[in-house]
Amino acid sequence: MNGKFKLITGLGNKDKNKVKSLVLLWAKAGADIFDTSPITTPCIQEALIENGLNLDDFDFCTSYAIVGDTHGKKAKIDPLICKMCKKCKDVCIEGAIEPPNIDKSKCIGCSHCKKACEYNAIQIYDDTDEDFFELLEKNVKLDTVEIHISIKDKKIIKEEFKKIIKALDRSTCAKNSKISVCFNRTFFSNSKTEKILAKLKELSGKREFVVQADGNSMNGANNTIAGTIETVAFGLFVKSLGYDVILSGGCNEYTAELAKKAGLNCSIGFGSFIRKMTENLPDDEKLKTAKEFVRKTKELLNDKSC
Ligand code: SF4
Ligand code: SF4
Repeated sequence: MNGKFKLITGLGNKDKNKVKSLVLLWAKAGADIFDTSPITTPCIQEALIENGLNLDDFDFCTSYAIVGDTHGKKAKIDPLICKMCKKCKDVCIEGAIEPPNIDKSKCIGCSHCKKACEYNAIQIYDDTDEDFFELLEKNVKLDTVEIHISIKDKKIIKEEFKKIIKALDRSTCAKNSKISVCFNRTFFSNSKTEKILAKLKELSGKREFVVQADGNSMNGANNTIAGTIETVAFGLFVKSLGYDVILSGGCNEYTAELAKKAGLNCSIGFGSFIRKMTENLPDDEKLKTAKEFVRKTKELLNDKSC
């Protein structure tokens, strides 16, 4: 699982057409792993086949956010409070807002709009996602199931984790899927992180287990070294515990270079940064830009000279 390039389209992103075009672009550019919401997983596989690509060349990952996790949240605007100033629209990189409405299928629950609203007109709420359990009964290629954890209640974490593993064991397509734990340590010290990850690995049984070190959740659009340094630091810590690591959260153009300098053998998941990178480019420039970014990233990740 080291040296791989992962496209993260967002657990909350259920806009099938948008996700399909992103996956096709980054598949042609050389991405290895696609991390998409459960409802979009079947249609991206159909689109790849229609375009003559082989599903065996890619790792398909879908996610489940345990109760309270940031990635399972959505935003809504109270129309009675909203002053239609559109500040929220300006900060939403998913293009989900047309005040006073928010397109739920596009919202990824990042909370940037809530922070931008001076009138406190935006609420963030937990969205229940039954799509995940429906996907488990479908005939799709599901290499990895990612469980998002960014809450502090250890009891809920363990109960939810056991529930998911049980569902995978009974499923049609995820009986042998790897487990990726997308872990944000906001609520945990190093020693508590070590203990909880050890427990989750134990609960995963014989399944391959990888940790997605979510260092600076949903902040990849902040393209600075400061925006990604925490992610690399957390990845180093997780690696020191003996796990395979995928970096995520705040991953941008500096991440692969920093990981290389730190001697961190890992994979990287890019979300908002690469989605933004190509969105305003003319079609003929999109693939060229994406290919160059994948090439450079994989070269840095796989350079063993340091
Ligand atoms: S920032 Fe707040 S007040 Fe302004 S349009 Fe958005 S929700 Fe309405
Ligand atoms: S800014 Fe984030 S939380 Fe707000 S609507 Fe856009 S995607 Fe959703």
